[in-house]
Amino acid sequence: MLSDRILNMGISKTLEMTAKARKLKELGYNVINLSVGEPDFLPPSFILKAAKKAIDKGYHNYTPISGYLELKKMICKKFKRDNNINYSNSQILISNGVKQSIINLFLALLNKNDEVIIPAPYWVSYYEMVKFCQAKPIIIPTTIKSNFKITYKQLKNVITSKTKIFIFNSPCNPTGCVYSKNEIKTLVKILSKNPKIIIISDEIYEYIIYEKKHISIASFSAIYNQTVTLNGLSKSFSMTGWRVGYLGGPEWLTKACEKIQGQTTSCVNSIAQRASIVALKYNQKKILKKILNSFKKRRNLIITFFKEIPTLKFKSPDGAFYLFIDISFFNQSSNNFSMHLLNKYFVATVSGESFGYKNGLRISYASSKKNLFEALFRIKKFLNEFFFF
Ligand code: PMP
Repeated sequence: MLSDRILNMGISKTLEMTAKARKLKELGYNVINLSVGEPDFLPPSFILKAAKKAIDKGYHNYTPISGYLELKKMICKKFKRDNNINYSNSQILISNGVKQSIINLFLALLNKNDEVIIPAPYWVSYYEMVKFCQAKPIIIPTTIKSNFKITYKQLKNVITSKTKIFIFNSPCNPTGCVYSKNEIKTLVKILSKNPKIIIISDEIYEYIIYEKKHISIASFSAIYNQTVTLNGLSKSFSMTGWRVGYLGGPEWLTKACEKIQGQTTSCVNSIAQRASIVALKYNQKKILKKILNSFKKRRNLIITFFKEIPTLKFKSPDGAFYLFIDISFFNQSSNNFSMHLLNKYFVATVSGESFGYKNGLRISYASSKKNLFEALFRIKKFLNEFFFF
């Protein structure tokens, strides 16, 4: 018999939708998959070369649990260079993707019924991982009106003596919203008054950002000691399958996460770590210029399309590679909406329900222009059908 813990766990809706799309494709249907959370580019060639070199040089063994020292040093440099945060090597832990960094942190911090504040719409796994640890997700809902951002007052109102963690994700999956320096400052004001709350700042989309500037919340000295900064190579370097994520945070917490990792997965793949040393060496903004331009063009393409459909509401995303649409007008559950779009028009998206926003739909534009054109054509047909129901 399975444990209550696993019986109560929902499956990842984004991965489920991707699997459904794959299955239909295997059956011969021409599916366009806009549900995926990964870039459709190759990792830069100098990173691929570094991985091949690591194999030839014989990096085949277990690495230290927390990661190669050279990689930890490089991550410290990166945090200083790009985020204005000072971390020492002993504050860094390299894990199998940011996903593992998060579960390590939750397992290290959460007792039964502890509360975790999560602004919604949120990335699907935060919610399920909190429940998995028998803690309580406390959701702060947001709307298009506030550009999907929370306010000082909203945050203040949900803090209790049981609050253990506040999750902060900018640029955000699924909305693409990016908090400005001033907006972060107002959140820092309330969080610094509650020093027992640990802030988990998930910055995995840091480099996929358009007109705005990314600000790391840990760069505010008032909350540095209570903040963990997460990042990884999945999104920025198109290395989702390499599984490299990392955290920088208070040493006591980093060590606790390392203890968990030591008893569970040991270390991250040695070859991927060697390649990551090279990847983080250079200014990512320069390396990613071409990729960013390409994302920008795609974003503009789908924004232009959806602007012409007044029944659908959205805010232009400032970062990441998703468009999050409000479909309230259609008075349909977003699960039905996205399933119908997949089963009849073979366009895979993810329903807002999975992100804690009932009337939403997430469309990933990490797909070729050709695919996007075809998908938008089909979406138009699908919407027309709605008006004739
Ligand atoms: N955080 C967010 C907001 C994400 O969107 C994802 C991946 N979809 C992750 C963390 C996990 O990324 P990874 O485990 O590949 O580093």
